[in-house]
Amino acid sequence: MTAQLIDGKAISKRLRVGFRTRVEKLIEQGVSPGLAVIIVGDNSASRVYVGNKIKACEECGVVSFHHAFPAETSEADILADIRNLNSDHKVHGILVQLPLPSHIDVRRILEAISVDKDVDGFHLYNVGGLVVGNTIFPPCTPYGVQLLLETTGIDVAGQNVVVVGASNIVGKPMALMLLQKEATVTVCHAKTRNLAQHTIIADILIVAAGKPGLIVPQMVKEGAIVIDVGINRLPDGRIVGDVDFEGVKEKASWITPVPGGVGPMTVTMLIENTLRSAERALHLRKENDYQDWEAPQLKTE
Ligand code: NAP
Repeated sequence: MTAQLIDGKAISKRLRVGFRTRVEKLIEQGVSPGLAVIIVGDNSASRVYVGNKIKACEECGVVSFHHAFPAETSEADILADIRNLNSDHKVHGILVQLPLPSHIDVRRILEAISVDKDVDGFHLYNVGGLVVGNTIFPPCTPYGVQLLLETTGIDVAGQNVVVVGASNIVGKPMALMLLQKEATVTVCHAKTRNLAQHTIIADILIVAAGKPGLIVPQMVKEGAIVIDVGINRLPDGRIVGDVDFEGVKEKASWITPVPGGVGPMTVTMLIENTLRSAERALHLRKENDYQDWEAPQLKTE
């Protein structure tokens, strides 16, 4: 079997077409959606990620506010900036690009972001919301994976889904979101014994370990759906995922490429969460109440 490709770039593009209409509607009602991106230090990968996010804002008509600080900036100064952004009505989403320099307490920074503007979904309130199935802002990468599966017509209910990687930003929230959609979920991590014993039973295999070549064809069930979240730069400059794409595509039924799979979806879901926040703020202005606000159903047509 040769797998069909799940084209994250094309799915993102279709989603973003719908975003423009939502932005126009918001602007008609006096709200111009805005995203603030804070970057501290000079990490070259972070600069690329921030650049992509700002470019996506421009493409969708979202105003971006780029706050770049030198690496030696104090935690107190970053917290002060976040407090200002929390009360700025032009800003509907606040994102702090990770990693942060080691003298800054990441948790303290993430908890300082207003829950109502936490478009990355990393605040404890939103993380807790995932556990009970009603988070305001689902974290962007797992949310992107969920949309890739839904758009491809893959229902996870009742399926054996194996998630390789248990980080706070990808693996754990991914597992919670899948559980909410009634999948049977196994989570593997670096201390998992005999990884292949778990991956081989997966109807859907989601890999987010940051280890190029970790998943080889012998570890994959014939006809499985394989989602590769990994982004790794090889010494020769090539960007690859965690899955041996050429080998595994001969066994899988569907597979995501790297690049062009999950990556573009992550940025798209960030814009989705920013629009969601602006729509929610508008609802609050009109109704003076968030209670009956419902997140829109995303469509790619
Ligand atoms: P992370 O914080 O380093 O976490 C990696 C996870 O993988 C950990 O839970 C670790 O286990 C587990 N792991 C490491 N080696 C393993 C092995 N040999 N077998 C099984 N599990 C193993 O990384 P992350 O932030 O979650 O990111 C993971 C990958 O996704 C990276 O390549 C990153 O660049 C990529 N990523 C992509 C996007 C996107 O938009 N496509 C977004 C975010 C991240 P322990 O918990 O036991 O250490």
